[in-house]
Amino acid sequence: MTTGPTRLSLSTFRRRLAGYDHLLLMSDYDGTLVAIRKHPAQAVASRSLRELLQRLANTQGMTLAIISGRSLREIKRLLPLRRIIRAGNHGFEITGLGMRIVLRIPPVARNALQEVGNLLRQRLGKIPGCLVEEKGVTVSIHYRRVPAQYLHQVRQNVRAVAEPYLCQKVLRLTRGKKVLELRPPIEWDKGKAVEAIWRHVAQRVGSRRVLPVYCGDDVTDEDAFHALRHQGVTVRIGRARQTAARYYLPSPKEMVRFLKALSCLDWHARRAS
Ligand SMILES: [Mg+2]
Repeated sequence: MTTGPTRLSLSTFRRRLAGYDHLLLMSDYDGTLVAIRKHPAQAVASRSLRELLQRLANTQGMTLAIISGRSLREIKRLLPLRRIIRAGNHGFEITGLGMRIVLRIPPVARNALQEVGNLLRQRLGKIPGCLVEEKGVTVSIHYRRVPAQYLHQVRQNVRAVAEPYLCQKVLRLTRGKKVLELRPPIEWDKGKAVEAIWRHVAQRVGSRRVLPVYCGDDVTDEDAFHALRHQGVTVRIGRARQTAARYYLPSPKEMVRFLKALSCLDWHARRAS
């Protein structure tokens, strides 16, 4: 019988930290640090959250990384923090603390993304509440605000526009919470991104005893949970029936509460326990 994730407590976390030199805290943004809003533009980090994250980023013995499906530029705008690693577009672009990964997108996929972006904007532009977001290396179709009677139309149009590219394996289609996403068919996801960040941080701090932690709320975060399932602490935000995460926290609010508690701990005491 498989058991679901257990609720993460600070005492469990402290136990997991024992024996490690460094904590690599990696987190998704939407639905994890901030609640999902009807429009992505409304999901803004409060000043107190930004200050909390900066405090964590400044803590010695800790590295903070934000990994999101949003573009790198968006993440920078939403979280204008120092001393952090940022990964945008599900890890297709990673920068910060000496890291710089920008995946090379085949020109044929780049052109295809531009074409589908244009076509989808034309076709879905008239559907109320539908938002087509072109993020350079991915195109997202948000349908959270679309009235139920139009949902079929959204799916039908996305399928019709994307089909030729999917058949030729020029693009692939992924799903998230009320979002469809078209991306290049590159074997790269949040799982590969967290592994690359983990390697980089271990090298940077000169220790193999870096504990990787990943917190996320959506289907794309499952790749990161899988990547860290043996050696990391994996936390799914919200309840999910199917998840590879070992732990959960019920909401972004609880996640922030947990981070606050973490920021109050004395780092040396944490390692000694
Ligand atoms: Mg999310």
